[in-house]
Amino acid sequence: MYIPEEKISEILTASDIVDVISESVILKKSGMNFFGLCPFHSEKTPSFSVNAGKQIFHCFGCSAGGNAFSFIMKYHGITFPEAVKMLARKYQIIIETQSIDPSMRRTLHLKEGLFRLNKMVMEYYSDSLETSKTADSARDYLKKRELTDQIIGQFKLGFSQDSWESVVTVIKKNKTSRAVALQSGLVLERKQKTGFYDRFRNRVMFPIFDINMQVAGFGGRVMDDSMPKYMNSPETPVYNKSRILYGLHAAKQFCRQKGFVYIVEGYFDFLALFQHGIKNTVASLGTALTKNHVRILKGYAKKMILVFDSDAAGISAAKRSIKVFLKEGVDTRILVLPKDNDPDSYVMKYGQNAFNELAKNAGTVMQFLLQVAIETHGMSVEGRINILNDMKQPLTLIDDSAVRSLYVKELSETLQIDEKAVLEKVKEQYLTQHTKKTSLIEKTKDENKLESDRREEQVLSMMLNYPQILPRIKQSGVIEYFYSEKLKHLAKKIMSIDTDKEAFMTKIMAGMETNEDRELIASFAINDFFLEDDIEVKALSMMNRIIKVRKKQENTLTNKIISAKKGSNSEIMDLLKQKQAEIQQLHNR
Ligand SMILES: [Zn+2]
Repeated sequence: MYIPEEKISEILTASDIVDVISESVILKKSGMNFFGLCPFHSEKTPSFSVNAGKQIFHCFGCSAGGNAFSFIMKYHGITFPEAVKMLARKYQIIIETQSIDPSMRRTLHLKEGLFRLNKMVMEYYSDSLETSKTADSARDYLKKRELTDQIIGQFKLGFSQDSWESVVTVIKKNKTSRAVALQSGLVLERKQKTGFYDRFRNRVMFPIFDINMQVAGFGGRVMDDSMPKYMNSPETPVYNKSRILYGLHAAKQFCRQKGFVYIVEGYFDFLALFQHGIKNTVASLGTALTKNHVRILKGYAKKMILVFDSDAAGISAAKRSIKVFLKEGVDTRILVLPKDNDPDSYVMKYGQNAFNELAKNAGTVMQFLLQVAIETHGMSVEGRINILNDMKQPLTLIDDSAVRSLYVKELSETLQIDEKAVLEKVKEQYLTQHTKKTSLIEKTKDENKLESDRREEQVLSMMLNYPQILPRIKQSGVIEYFYSEKLKHLAKKIMSIDTDKEAFMTKIMAGMETNEDRELIASFAINDFFLEDDIEVKALSMMNRIIKVRKKQENTLTNKIISAKKGSNSEIMDLLKQKQAEIQQLHNR
């Protein structure tokens, strides 16, 4: 790592973790901490906590935790230096790039180059649409789609010329490096390696922005019936399709205001809704929605309404998307539009109020699936069995057992099949999906380990919350008696960091080497189990207890060795000696 430590702590000191996380997670203050729905695991009740005083976050559900950097890294799926840069940019702190390690500098440069190129090409496409004589067809097309100039301007729609080398020329003129040009996917290499040609030709262009308003990629649509109708940029180091949602950069504030988000499929659906004042909308761009998408959206809205066409393709798309929402445990509604409508045509024809009115009656996922199944199979005896077979799989995806049992009840009533029989089917399905369930054994193991480490964890928690006792702990030598190597390592690390009381946690966090360490530290620091006034007494008794237990165990061992010697039981002797040596080795480390 080449970014100087002073820089890192400068950035951490300038930043506020509540401010940083609030950009992505809805936080509410409760007692000492802020709470929100964890963006790293699926949950319905908030167990994700942020502490402003200590500048850390910790999830009581999945143990994710750390400081502002850890959050940014995990949330955006980026590396440490990238996170440092991102936070530095936010708080207007300059980092000299020489201080970043060479391979990381290359990646950062590549990404910056891609953003720069994308932005330049976006301007080029947008200028072409506005002024080029050859763009008549595109302008006519957009007029026919009834988009206003305001919307076209706000979302920087453009036009790619009907030519093989328009963007190639732009790239050459601006001396963009070959690597960046190729990686952007805007141009492709000719088969004979004699040069490049444009990927997007004679299309209406939609720049795809990431959450920070940078151009990550493009989509292009033909203006007639030729195929492929839509074409998108390939995945690039700045365009991660499993994370980016079209329009979120503009919609995020409105999603928060309304508390819910409409998810539509296409560019035009999104733009038409936005134009009609329905601004809490994002588009999935036809790619299957991933858990990352859902988790990112959870940071802006509690409820999600999936909007689909009523044709067969729309219904099957809805069925495909539903799984991930069920798994993530989000309040999800399905809005199927009246026959022969898509969101775009519907809102253009009937307007904002009609659309919102329709959305009010959007059913739950289970209601939707049930209705589709009933329409497919009918309510004959055979039909009802088939319906049950269709429904059992989605039911297993619901983690919340209370919710699941409500649906089971509803299903049994609708189908007039005994509730027990429905439940049996669901269980059957669950078991075939989870044939190997070893996690139970692992869990018990974990629990045992937790029990033995608990006291040592408490010592760490004390050290982090009450730095004034650090000298006492050092003096007692208790850390040498720790069973857990991991905790021993962390405790020593804390001791070794030179800290004054100011920014204590910030410095500790910055001094941790791995994410895992930061997670652990955050989990010990987030809660203090003790009261400040009796902390010295508590610490002392805790330390004594650890030392005593450890010594006692060693004594028992020694006694056993002595009695084994007397009975000359050589096998046991060897075993015990070996054990004792192991323990001694632990101490000498
Ligand atoms: Zn979590």
